[in-house]
Amino acid sequence: MSAAPLFVPLEEWEYLNHEVLRSSRSSKVCITCQHFRYEVDKHCVTLLTCPIHQGLIPQGEHLTKRCSRWVERRELAVGWCSEAG
Ligand code: SF4
Repeated sequence: MSAAPLFVPLEEWEYLNHEVLRSSRSSKVCITCQHFRYEVDKHCVTLLTCPIHQGLIPQGEHLTKRCSRWVERRELAVGWCSEAG
């Protein structure tokens, strides 16, 4: 039996579904999460991604949903230039 690959190329990521993403009524949504990323595919289409889940976030849901692994963005927690403090 072969082990699952640790790195899955972005092109093979699937969209996260309701089992991962849950509605949020607060500012704790994907776009404010430390793990949230914008990526560009080979057709120059912007993708909303989560490297933690190795999954794509459906357009718009980055503003209204999150998962249980949400983490506050570091620049919001400690400031843009914490080393200057
Ligand atoms: S870890 Fe969760 S909240 Fe953060 S970007 Fe990924 S899916 Fe969204």
